[in-house]
Amino acid sequence: MSHQFIPKRAFFEPKALEYPIGQKVYEQLQEMKVPITLTGSHNRITGIPGDTPQEAYQEAKNTLVVGIRKSLDFAGCKPSAHYQLPLTTSCSSMCEYCYLATTLGKKPYLRVYVNVNEILEQASRYIRARAPEITWFEGAATSDPIPTEYLTGLLYNTIEFFGRQPFGRFRFVTKHDRVDSLLTAKHNGHTRFRFSINAASIIDQYEHKTPTLIQRVEAAAKVAEKGYPVGFIIAPVFYYPGWEEEYLKLLQELDKQLPKKNRNDITFELIAHRFTKRAKNNILAIFPETKLPMEEEERKFKYGQFGYGKYLYQKETMDEMKEDMHKGIHTYFPHAAIEYFV
Ligand code: SF4
Repeated sequence: MSHQFIPKRAFFEPKALEYPIGQKVYEQLQEMKVPITLTGSHNRITGIPGDTPQEAYQEAKNTLVVGIRKSLDFAGCKPSAHYQLPLTTSCSSMCEYCYLATTLGKKPYLRVYVNVNEILEQASRYIRARAPEITWFEGAATSDPIPTEYLTGLLYNTIEFFGRQPFGRFRFVTKHDRVDSLLTAKHNGHTRFRFSINAASIIDQYEHKTPTLIQRVEAAAKVAEKGYPVGFIIAPVFYYPGWEEEYLKLLQELDKQLPKKNRNDITFELIAHRFTKRAKNNILAIFPETKLPMEEEERKFKYGQFGYGKYLYQKETMDEMKEDMHKGIHTYFPHAAIEYFV
């Protein structure tokens, strides 16, 4: 199993200590000798060191903030779910192409909300409003929720909550492998446990401080064995010499490790590598030596919302990647659903 996230420092909103989870996290951090500071608001954290963008980023990734979620309005999460479920933000890893890099700012510290019961009560209201239609909630829209789970148990609570909901469903995605505490949760098949995976060399090169491909696949096999519906996001898919063999190996590894039962309820989501100008600038500020392929001239420009156009692979490349990935998945998982390739 990969290393556990141990924060270098933590900040607490005093009110968070009035909640059992807040108390529990506080005591654990004290035992672990993590320096703790009280703070007025989880949105205004001062005291994270770092003179350069790289240092500020790294230090933030070692900082945990424990607070209360005040606004109980959930953001939408189209097309994958109806609502985002706000439990945590950011994560301790440092993937060069992190999908949160442009939204979490220069100091993407980790944040956990301890008023989970109030958050889940709000989820109940949203579920009741749409019943008997099923309402889906996404737990990883602004985070990878696994690194802090051993401290908080937020996912465990949430998974059991959705296990009891006839009309509510939960999904989240992780690149992490510390899933053991979730194996005993009574999920009732209502949580889709997704793993974000990639070719082994891509993980090695760009996904710093994350578990290896093999560790993630082992974790996926464990949760599938416990009857969770599983899913895989393969993203970003890169086009480079030898890409077909490497992505095929990834599928072979999944085929080798995943239990044979319930294979007709596996989902795949595929996203080819793309970037925006803004993302490229952010990446270069934090990872000046990056080897990520981000040559605008080689890509196809697609105008996007809010003036942020994307640089995608050329159409012929995309078509080739799509065809190959679909073929590979159909070979090893003929009953799996490929939700999209974009
Ligand atoms: Fe971002 Fe996910 Fe990597 Fe964490 S694991 S840095 S959330 S892409």
